[in-house]
This record gives sequence, C-alpha cells and structure tokens, in this order.
Amino acid sequence: GSADQIAALRAKLAPEGNVVSEAGRRKTIEVFGVPLTPVQVVERICFDVRERGLPMLLEYTAKLDGKQLTASELRVPAAELAAAHAAADPKLLEAVRRIRKRILAFQEAILHQTVTVQTEHGGYLTQRYLPLRRIGVCVPGGAAAYPSTVLMTVVPAQAAGVEQIAVVAPPTAFGSYNQDLLATCHELGVAEVYRAGGAQAVAALAYGVEGLERVDKIVGPGNLFVALAKKLVFGEVDIDSIAGPSEVIVIADETTRADFTAADLIAQAEHSPGSAILITWHAPLIEAVVAELEKQLATLERGDLTRPSLEAFGALVLVRNADEAVALANELATEHLHLAGPEAERLADRIRYAGAIFLGSFTPVPVGDYAAGPSHVLPTGATARFASGLSANDFLRTNSMIHFTEPGLAAIAGDVLTLAAKEGLTGHANSVAIRLKKLIR
Ligand code: NAD
Repeated sequence: GSADQIAALRAKLAPEGNVVSEAGRRKTIEVFGVPLTPVQVVERICFDVRERGLPMLLEYTAKLDGKQLTASELRVPAAELAAAHAAADPKLLEAVRRIRKRILAFQEAILHQTVTVQTEHGGYLTQRYLPLRRIGVCVPGGAAAYPSTVLMTVVPAQAAGVEQIAVVAPPTAFGSYNQDLLATCHELGVAEVYRAGGAQAVAALAYGVEGLERVDKIVGPGNLFVALAKKLVFGEVDIDSIAGPSEVIVIADETTRADFTAADLIAQAEHSPGSAILITWHAPLIEAVVAELEKQLATLERGDLTRPSLEAFGALVLVRNADEAVALANELATEHLHLAGPEAERLADRIRYAGAIFLGSFTPVPVGDYAAGPSHVLPTGATARFASGLSANDFLRTNSMIHFTEPGLAAIAGDVLTLAAKEGLTGHANSVAIRLKKLIR
C-alpha cells in the first residue's frame, strides 16, 4: 500500500497510447520529418483539415494509413454496405439483432426523463431533454476489428433519438474495409460510413469537410491520436470520455477458480496493449493463476500478442484483506472491475471509482464487452475518477424552461431586486420592477 507501489500499479494501468501516460506524451515521432510530440502532430493535422478540408483529409489518410483515396471514395457507397450485409454470416447478423435489442432495452430504461417542478402561485420549472441531431462515432481499426464498438455506440445514440450518425473507421482491413463492420452498420441502419481514421477523421467530423457534414458530438474509443484530437476539438463539438487502451482489475478470493481468473486476465491483455491486474488476499491463488496463465497462453491464437502485454502491463497483487483490495481498486479507478468472489455485491457497495463493475463468477468482462446492455465504451487511465461510461444520456442535451405567473413574480421579485442591486445591474432590477409596479397599482 505504499505510494511507490501504487504509482507502479498506476503505470501498469496507463500503457503508452493512453492520454494519461507521461511516457506516451513525451515520446516524439517523425511523421513530419522533424521530431514532434503526439500533441504537436495532432495539432498540425487538425489545423490542416480545418483550414484546407477534404484534400488534407485524403493526404493524411495516404500518409498515415497508406491508402490513397479519391474524394468519391471517402464515403462507403450504399451498395457496398448492402452487399456486405447480404454476404454476412447469418449467425453474426442474428447475434447483432439480439444484442441490439438488449442494448436498446437497457439504454431506453435509463434515459433521463423531462422533469417539471411546480412553483408557488402556479408557475413551473422544467428540465427538458432533447436528443442531439447529428453525431460522429470513431470505430478503431488498427489492432482489431470492432463491430461490437458500432453496437455499443450507435445503439445508445439511437435509444436517445439521434437522427444522424456518421461512423468513421480507418481504411484498413480491421477498419472500414472490414465486411463484418460494414454489415453491422447496415443492420443498425447506419448509412454514413467514412474511410478515415486517427486525428484527421476526428477533425473532419468536428469541422466538416466536403462530403462530410460536421457533427455535434464525437464519441468512441481510439488510440492516442484519436484521443488527443478529441481533446483538441472539444469546445467546437462535444466529446465523450477518453476511452483508451483497455484495463481490468480482478478482485478474487479463496473461492475463485484460478482458470477463470487467468482467462479473465488474458482477455484484457489480448487487446495488446491491455492492462490486467489481479488483486487477492489469498496467496495460493497467485501461484495457481501463474500456472494457469502459462497453460492457457500456450494454446491461445493471439498468445504471441498477449504475453508481452501481460508482461508489460500485468500485475498480480497480494493484499492483506478485502478492505485493502477495495481501497486499492478505488485508488486505481480502473475501466473494468471484476469482483469475482461470492461477496461481490457487498464489496461493490464500497467501490466508488470504476468504469463498469462485473459481479460474481459468471459475469466475465466479455459479456459486457459484447452483449449485455451498458456500453463498453468506458473511461480508462484512472479517468473513472470523474468520467463515466458512454450511455444514451450522453446523446441528450437539456433546455431549462421557466414560467412565472404575475403573483409568482411578485413572490420572488424581492430576491431578484436584492441581487441586482448588489451587482449594480439596474437594468436587471428594472425589468422586474416595471412589472411589479403594474401589480402594485
Ligand atoms: P485507431 O483505429 O484508434 O487509430 C488508428 C489511426 O491512428 C490510424 O488510422 C492513423 O490515422 C493514426 N495514427 C497511427 N499512428 C500515427 C502516427 N504515428 N501519427 C499520426 N497518426 C497516427 O487505432 P487502434 O490501434 O485500433 O487503437 C484503438 C484503441 O482503442 C486500442 O487501444 C483499443 O484497446 C482501444 N479500445 C478501447 C475501448 C474502450 O471502450 N476503452 C473499446 C474498443 C477499443
């Protein structure tokens, strides 16, 4: 529990590529022939796309993704989306339909409802929720294909009533050339899919380019360049949280099966990079998990990617008791927290900071990743301290509405006049007083 130990664990939870990683921020890259930090690279890309539009988007796509597209190839044609859908594995489409229903049911159930409070003398105050009109979704395409990310962003937006959804994914085999991804978009009714990724795609969504109308909010996970670009354009458009490389903390006890736990750690590390930390007060579990990790890694398809990820960003932590485990989990504010033991619910009551909490032995994180209902787009890098996972409510904005009757105004006027006098704003005072005089007369 020393500060040094906690800092070491925190570093494990912030692989390079995470916005909060110091090492990642300082490392320079030479995409422009001179060493620049990722922030400088992203500033330049966003500036260029903003000032010069589509040609710069295409130029950066050629430079950074190695794909020379013409203006007409930016948007995936409707016929191509339909063809991908027609050729898709029926099992995928059936799963997508069922998952969509589950996500929709949960996301609609949690939607904020308009609230009205009556005030004295017949007035009322209302908080009204309205959907955003047009949003952009970033779907990653560097390290793996993510039809699941389309589901976990698009369906919550649809639950909120968003009319227009533009998906961007890099022009790669894992991105916007991925047939499963295109089929999933089509199944969900997403007609706008653009072949662009990284900072240049975020800038295009934020500022608009020829053939791609600007959006009001940009959501979705991505690598460091996507995350930094979202930070940069925030203010001109809204963004969700920063969802970077994936992480899990598993808290397990003497009843937890080592094979389950090893499988859970591997599932996160497989993201490569992905952080996976086991916290337990039962020392023999650590040895058993190490043995299981070796066994399972040997048979795994992505074992060669997963092992280095586990070595660099994995940790097995022995604490004295459940209290220490809870304190550490709160300190680290991880994206996924899996409470694997039978006391899961009791422990969860004491967890304040985590993106999503998975309870019990039969709720592995991939259930939430793929199929359950809450979005898998979750805050990483300990930003769960202040940020929340994506939900349908992120696609709503509010109007407050205020209505006073004459007697209602008379009742509140004194307070307004007092404050207006203190601030020296006589015009403010007058706009109330002029009405009061009428009342008094
Ligand atoms: P990505 O698709 O987000 O970004 C790829 C783009 O980055 C490229 O198209 C390119 O334009 C840009 N890029 C790459 N190198 C660059 C350079 N040197 N200079 C400028 N631009 C450059 O990439 P990805 O690899 O698929 O990463 C996605 C990340 O999102 C992974 O870490 C994954 O684990 C994570 N993820 C997180 C969640 C979540 O909810 N937290 C969900 C899914 C995925």
